[in-house]
Amino acid sequence: MTLSASELSRYHRHLALPELGKEGQQRLKAARVLVIGAGGLGSPAALYLAAAGVGTLGLVDCDRVELSNLQRQVLFDTASVGRLKTEAARERLLALNPEISVVAHTLTLCAANVLEVLRGYDLVLDGTDRLVTRYLVNDACVLLGRPLVSAAIHRFEGHAMTYLPGRGPCYRCLFPAAEEGVVGNCAQAGVLGVLPGVLGAIQATEAIKILTGIGEPIVGRLVTYDALELRFVELPVTRRVDCAVCGEHPTITAPRDDGELCDAVALARVRRLTASALRDLLASQSGSAGLFLVDVREPHEFHSRHLQGAHNIPLADLGRRLGELEGERSPVFLCRSGRRSLMACALALRSGLEAPAHLEGGLLAWAAEVDPAFEVAAG
Ligand SMILES: [Zn+2]
Repeated sequence: MTLSASELSRYHRHLALPELGKEGQQRLKAARVLVIGAGGLGSPAALYLAAAGVGTLGLVDCDRVELSNLQRQVLFDTASVGRLKTEAARERLLALNPEISVVAHTLTLCAANVLEVLRGYDLVLDGTDRLVTRYLVNDACVLLGRPLVSAAIHRFEGHAMTYLPGRGPCYRCLFPAAEEGVVGNCAQAGVLGVLPGVLGAIQATEAIKILTGIGEPIVGRLVTYDALELRFVELPVTRRVDCAVCGEHPTITAPRDDGELCDAVALARVRRLTASALRDLLASQSGSAGLFLVDVREPHEFHSRHLQGAHNIPLADLGRRLGELEGERSPVFLCRSGRRSLMACALALRSGLEAPAHLEGGLLAWAAEVDPAFEVAAG
């Protein structure tokens, strides 16, 4: 892959980086990257990858641009409303960089087509907001041996992790089971428009690093980002030997759709408590027979206001402090919005803790439903 005069000029600031250089730029030109979802995450990721000179960029999406997308999906402008996202995005990316090819896959990924679509690419970026698709894509990447850079966003928070075949845990190692709606959907939950810009740029960064062989990817490290506090927290994730897809004895040996995607047995072991259900439980419990409340927020959030009797183990420390829960009463994890507490349940389940519970909607729900005087510190 040689670089033309115009390419040498276009990528001059890359070529000026000795770590990347001409060889790295040639690798980018030869690379084929698939971006799943031309939405909040896919927009910045695809723009930066196109600008960086990734030779073939594939886009998967079946939706049309809506006015309410424009608050965060920077691939599109007002004139794009009503158009197919893949077509509008293709035009925009080629206008940015006519040296590359952009392939539009206007479809919904499912078990029947996922391998066929992914097979044509070297690396996959997952920016979907559908949990079912996220697992489908994870499994397909494991089965095909493709690197996968995942990210997800919710309200003011997001996380990202990279899977490299044979080198670390996959998304299913992190969250063995899931169900649609757990993480919420942007359409209902709301999302800060600039949030996916940060996570999508992280995904593009990871892709460029992996393709050019520079730096250290976030393999086995779940990077979480809290926009309100402007704080990054990193959680170590290890590969599960019993992972259903990348483990020693995988039970998922081909992509499968929806119904079977969720490990219902494991999922059923996470108890989801509404704020009023937790209030009733606390009222009915007494002394040592009561619940063991574990507040997984950061210490400053905890100290500002917390539920009586709650213990503070920040999520980032939970992995190495799970031993403290041994022999305790039934643990109930709490956090600000219910997102970190669900991650805590996933971690606890992975460590063999039986039936962890969490407060759905977090302390914000507690304040809304149970105690209006309860002031929840910013995350
Ligand atoms: Zn796995």
